[in-house]
Amino acid sequence: MREIVVLSGKGGTGKTSLTAAFAHLCRDKVLCDLDVDAPDLHILLEPRPLRREDFVSGHEARIDPEACTACGLCRDACRFAAIRDSEGVPAVDPLRCEGCKVCVALCPAGAIEFIPKTCGEWGVSATRFGTLVHAQLLPGEENSGRLVTLLKQEARKLAEAQDASLILCDGAPGIGCPVISSLAGTHLAVAVTEPTPSGRHDLERVCGVCDHFRVPVAVIVNKHDLNPAEDARIEAFCRQRGYELVARLPHDPLVTTAMVQRKTVTELADNGFTHFLLRAWKRIGRLAGLGQ
Ligand code: SF4
Ligand code: SF4
Repeated sequence: MREIVVLSGKGGTGKTSLTAAFAHLCRDKVLCDLDVDAPDLHILLEPRPLRREDFVSGHEARIDPEACTACGLCRDACRFAAIRDSEGVPAVDPLRCEGCKVCVALCPAGAIEFIPKTCGEWGVSATRFGTLVHAQLLPGEENSGRLVTLLKQEARKLAEAQDASLILCDGAPGIGCPVISSLAGTHLAVAVTEPTPSGRHDLERVCGVCDHFRVPVAVIVNKHDLNPAEDARIEAFCRQRGYELVARLPHDPLVTTAMVQRKTVTELADNGFTHFLLRAWKRIGRLAGLGQ
């Protein structure tokens, strides 16, 4: 079984649209949306939920006002200023609580509970292109890397059960924890960029992360014809670093049309643009070691 993750150093490069198109083009796969902070693959794939679970990670303090004597010890000790007076009784602000447990240890009245924290939810859904494993972290919650690891583990179990040859992942933008977690066990990272200075800069950063974890990289330049000078710089960068440039896609309004209709561009048309995508996918499959 092979694992491919589609990344972009920055958001808005067309990463998810391309992942959805590849999901349409390939067979025998499990899909996985690893952008747990702002998932959007489901918008195009219109999933039908099969399973839903809370994502519980870490703990948070909660004060029992009945047991509290309002001594103020916990409020003074909390380094994150998460405990404030509320109508004369201390209360924990869950958005500030870091779960360090200091207040629990100090409270002389034993009035502080330390309860598991629900940080989001994850689930498995059926889509027209196969099974999708996906999640949503609650606003402001951390541990996105842990959630990504959980999703990948679930995707692997499903892929084994379905005898699937591929796990195709839509990764998170940027180079943070979810991206690093998504690279574990990955056979190929496909980095999608656009020909702008920030696109090139962020491509260089995400490629640096992939190199660090020794994950091979293939590059796609989206809307390459909008800026020939930057397009040429990206091509030179790929050549210098030994990354295969698997596609230079032209700007095509069909991509927006497909998005508005909640379809993939490959479902909507059979034209020059989709032929570029098909060729790119074949090349990606070979680089990832997929027998196609
Ligand atoms: S667990 Fe730590 S961060 Fe949370 S309220 Fe208690 S002392 Fe503050
Ligand atoms: S340390 Fe315990 S008793 Fe004192 S204010 Fe905090 S919760 Fe109340």
